[in-house]
Amino acid sequence: TTPERSDDCLFCKIVAGDIPAEIVHATETAVAFRDVNRQAPTHVLVVPTSHYENAGELARHEPATAAELLTVAAHIAEKEGIEEGYRLVFNTGSGAGQTVWHAHLHVLGGRPLTWPPG
Ligand code: 5GP
Ligand code: ZN
Repeated sequence: TTPERSDDCLFCKIVAGDIPAEIVHATETAVAFRDVNRQAPTHVLVVPTSHYENAGELARHEPATAAELLTVAAHIAEKEGIEEGYRLVFNTGSGAGQTVWHAHLHVLGGRPLTWPPG
């Protein structure tokens, strides 16, 4: 798979407001919105406003923004009242299930989560 250019990127368009999404939180460098194909009662994606192919590239170029994704994720888990635990996932590469080539952190919670995920 070829990484998308930022002007052709779904999550850049959501960040820009060109494609609608259910935004749950936004800061200067991160936007959180509900996954359209929900895998748990809470399934939110936290994305940097800047375009990087994956979490590693984001962390290399903008470590503060990479950390911000975690802060926002923890805030969402608290706001959504997840008490039993939640899972944070960066799928990285097609072999790990990455389908959108703009770094994004999955926040999953509200149901029992088994480990390993498979
Ligand atoms: P990945 O598989 O790359 O880790 O995660 C991409 C996620 O983006 C998937 O869980 C998929 O359901 C979600 N997604 C794909 N297209 C859209 C969209 O247009 N809107 C929203 N809100 N989520 C999307
Ligand atoms: Zn993008």
